[in-house]
Amino acid sequence: MHKRHITFALCLIFLLGLFFQYNRTDGFASLLKNSNAVMAIGTINEQPAIEMNLDNKHYLLVFDAKDINSILLKRNIERVLKYHKKKVTTVDSNVFADSHLPYAGIIMALGNFDQVKSMAAFRDFVRQGGSLYVMVTPKLGPAFATMYQEMGFDSIAEPGLAHGIKVLSNVLVKGKGFILSDNDYEMAILKGVINRAAHVHLTSLENTPLLWDYSCGKGKYIVYNATGLQEKAMRGIVAGMLSLGRDTYIYPVIGTKTVYIDDFPAPVPDGYFDSIKAEYQLSLADFYRQVWWPDMLKLAERYNIRYTGLIIETYNNQVKPPFLPEEDHDGNNKKNLVIYGRELLKSGGELGIHGYNHQPLTLQQYTGSEIDLGYNSWGSIDHISQSIAELKRYVAEVYPGYKLKAYVPPSNILSKEGRQALIDASPDLNIIASLYVQGDGRSTYDQEYTKSKDGIYEMPRISYDYTRDNNYDWEILNGVSSLGVFSHFIHPDNFLYEERANELGWSKTYKEFTSLIKGIQDNYGWLRSCTASEAAVHLDDYLNLEYQLVEKQDSLTLRCWGFRNEVYFILKTSKKINTVQGCLVENIDENTYLLKIFAPKVQVFFESVGAS
Ligand SMILES: [Zn+2]
Repeated sequence: MHKRHITFALCLIFLLGLFFQYNRTDGFASLLKNSNAVMAIGTINEQPAIEMNLDNKHYLLVFDAKDINSILLKRNIERVLKYHKKKVTTVDSNVFADSHLPYAGIIMALGNFDQVKSMAAFRDFVRQGGSLYVMVTPKLGPAFATMYQEMGFDSIAEPGLAHGIKVLSNVLVKGKGFILSDNDYEMAILKGVINRAAHVHLTSLENTPLLWDYSCGKGKYIVYNATGLQEKAMRGIVAGMLSLGRDTYIYPVIGTKTVYIDDFPAPVPDGYFDSIKAEYQLSLADFYRQVWWPDMLKLAERYNIRYTGLIIETYNNQVKPPFLPEEDHDGNNKKNLVIYGRELLKSGGELGIHGYNHQPLTLQQYTGSEIDLGYNSWGSIDHISQSIAELKRYVAEVYPGYKLKAYVPPSNILSKEGRQALIDASPDLNIIASLYVQGDGRSTYDQEYTKSKDGIYEMPRISYDYTRDNNYDWEILNGVSSLGVFSHFIHPDNFLYEERANELGWSKTYKEFTSLIKGIQDNYGWLRSCTASEAAVHLDDYLNLEYQLVEKQDSLTLRCWGFRNEVYFILKTSKKINTVQGCLVENIDENTYLLKIFAPKVQVFFESVGAS
């Protein structure tokens, strides 16, 4: 009897030995589900045969073709309308515009009304029930003098300055109560007294009204008495203003939440780092393994995050071949790729690439500000390709067959030539994730959410870092409100090099990061937590989506086509929703709903006015 037990024990030891051996030689890594290879398959919803009246989606945008500020403002508004898939006719202010068309609204991307040829007709448009959006501080002049009371001013004084922004309403989704406390954020305003009947949505830190809506006749003025709406970071305000002008305002959103960890997995320096040693008595490598990564996984688990990690093979600064595997201190670099990569995939994450090393893919002729960052420029496209080939070889050794689909440019810098070389060298690649709002004056690769002609999904990141930053919080709020996107990135070692985080130490830095991620989950739990590849599937559906809209007093009918799976719309209305068909509805803020649309025909029925 004893003998059988011993044989069993020996067999078990042998099998365990095999297991650990296999595990150590990365064998299991290749058995992991290649999560990013799963692409959505569904049938495309076809366009309905009936052509509906589209005027409820058609805006008239007036601007001054001779004024650069007006042109920039116009472009930003056009971009928001494009994201919302509304139609827009753009006219120069000195051209007579036919306002008899039943536009959804007329938008003024200029403050000098003396220049607007059709101003009298536009004012009439409002009296008859239309909405007129003033997107920048009105300029004093004869035209304005005859109409300021229609816009909600009781009296006007001189032009002045205001600072910061207080959000008084839910003009931004879950934005009520938010304060952009940056005193350096300065706007040109027009001082005056606002009519008490106006609904004020934003004020400055000095409590000067910045945004209000005011009824005039059967229609409405929506007035932004400040500057700044030409900025990408203000698009949530533009979206919010559009919603203020209509009883129901509905727009599609991408509806995704992504968190990128740049430079991960990557080589970790040997030895100790002062602040970490003081806080944890651990080497940097042990700290990452025992504290940082378990903390990151816990956060992901608790608040529904699926990380996309971007691999770096080495931190050498070489830009000439041969590109060799780094002198591997005791095989630690590869061990990191095995252990962290595997756990990242196991947690539902995705692996993408950041580079063979951290030198941005720019050629020698790019002698812009990247020189200031101490980077080397690459000698030729071929050298870039060779470095990418080495990175792919390195990854494939550990994760054979894994499709590397996402790329994040080092320091968010990427030249046109570098981009082409990268794509040519990596046929699986279909996502580039860089920056949404331009970096601090550097030659960064800035993107809009789109699909380029070469098939690459451009998926910018909107916010950054572990620690809270009031300006980033503002950009997050605007990003979610206009696009339905939270896209964030961190570097594992941010807390070592950034002054504030370094002062705080990891445990307090982690607390701040937790408050950010928890806040997103609490306020925007409806965002779909995604890896880069999964977000690209939703982006694709969003980009292909088209819709028509029929609005009635007690119902709203949407016909949607072009998408495969499920698309999200935000509906802003003060009407109460009774029932819906063809979608699921979720109340995500006061008078704000999320529609999850799965059928080509959607109907929303409202409680009839006067019903209790
Ligand atoms: Zn990096």
